Parts: sequence; C-alpha cells; structure tokens
Amino acid sequence: MLGVFKYNDKLGRRLVVILQGYPCAYGKCTFCPFALEQTLHPAKLLETNRRIIGEALRVKNEWHPRRIAIFNGGSLHELPLTVLEELKPLARGVVFEVEERSEYVTLDSIRHLLDFYNPDKLVIRIGFENIEEWVREKVLAKGMPDSELHRIRDLIAKVRELGLPVEIWTYVLFGMEGIPEDTVARSVREFKRIFDGVIAIRYRRYVPTHPKPVPVSKELALILERETDLVDWGGDQWVIAGKEGSAPG
Ligand code: SF4
Repeated sequence: MLGVFKYNDKLGRRLVVILQGYPCAYGKCTFCPFALEQTLHPAKLLETNRRIIGEALRVKNEWHPRRIAIFNGGSLHELPLTVLEELKPLARGVVFEVEERSEYVTLDSIRHLLDFYNPDKLVIRIGFENIEEWVREKVLAKGMPDSELHRIRDLIAKVRELGLPVEIWTYVLFGMEGIPEDTVARSVREFKRIFDGVIAIRYRRYVPTHPKPVPVSKELALILERETDLVDWGGDQWVIAGKEGSAPG
C-alpha cells in the first residue's frame, strides 16, 4: 500500500515509505505484484509522491525514527530526479534504506548516493531471494545469475575496505510453490556470510496467475526468526491495490 508506515521491531524505530513508481524496467519476476500500484503518468506520480513524502517528513519530525526505508516497487534509480531530490530531507540524520536491483549497485552509484543524500548510514537492499541460481532463474525469473551475486560479494568487500557508511542487505523469499524449504534455510546461512543483513519475506499472492502460496513449516519459521535480521510475515504495507494477498496459515 502506498503511504507511510511506522514500525518498532527487531530493526528498531523505523519508518517505511512506499512511493509510487513507474513499472519496474526489468518487470519479469514471476511473483511480483508491484505493477498493481504503479503508474505510467508522470504528473500523477509526482503529485502522489509529493503528498507521501510530505507526510513522511511530518512523521519523521514528530516521531524521530532511527531508520527510514524508501520503497517504490522497483529500484530507487528508476524514480524521476525530482522525487529523488524531494527525498533528501528524509535521509538526513537517519539510517536511510533503499531498494535496488543489483545492476544499479556499483561503487560509483554507491558513492553518488552517499554524496546526494549524506545519511548517517546508507543501506541498500537487493532481492536475491535465494542462494540457488536455479531457483532465482527458473522459478523466480529474477535475472540475477551467480555472476551478479559474486560481483556484489566483491563489492561489499570493497565497501568495507574503504570504510564507507554503507551496508548491503538481501531478501530471502519463502512460502511459495517451487521454492524448496531447505533452499530457504541454506540461503539464509549462505547470505549471512556475504551480506550485511538478511530479511526473510513471506510470499503472498495478489494475482491469480502467479505461483501458489504454500504453508510454512514451524521448523523453517523458527530458523528464520532466529537467523535473520527480520522476518516480514505481512502487514499493512503489504495491502497492494486494496488486496491483502493470499498466504495459507
Ligand atoms: S525486480 Fe523487483 S520490482 Fe522488478 S519485477 Fe522483480 S520483484 Fe518486481
């Protein structure tokens, strides 16, 4: 759901700001519902996002969150420059989190984001979703082969070596047909060795032709709660285009 959401959880006191984006330039992931909230109309996009950013600034000034995450159903770099400029006051004095597809994440783009936003810390979240290339490419159609995973692994090492105030996190998707549970647990273990943080996200289905949601074993739920930085089981931000999305209990 587009808007501003307050959380106080494992990640601390934080705001999630969901902006309207243009359709993701990649747009092929088999499970992705974000097209339901996107627009092709620049004027509508600017007006909607100006309203949401204004609300986020008001909440930031009243509630003083430690982290602010910006999502646009795609990559931050796909938002118009006007919107990127209007986000600047939100980034000041906080851990500023954004989502990107891996191809937007290079040492140059990281340095540019740091100069542009000057946050206390920049967190870039990338949706690799699963450590197994066959799950990413055949089940999810992520378009992020192992070569990209290895490139980002080396980039993280470089960012650490340079001492930049940047962390790169990843998502792990679970609860969807075609994603074996053992690969989810293994993804968390392996990703923890590569990334600065791991967030597990439960799949929900919004479009009837998308893959089916499947039940999650208690064993996996325990592993995820214990081993990840956050398990996202759903919530208001996951109401998309008026639908809560289906996920078996
Ligand atoms: S990269 Fe992200 S926004 Fe784009 S299609 Fe895949 S899941 Fe959706």
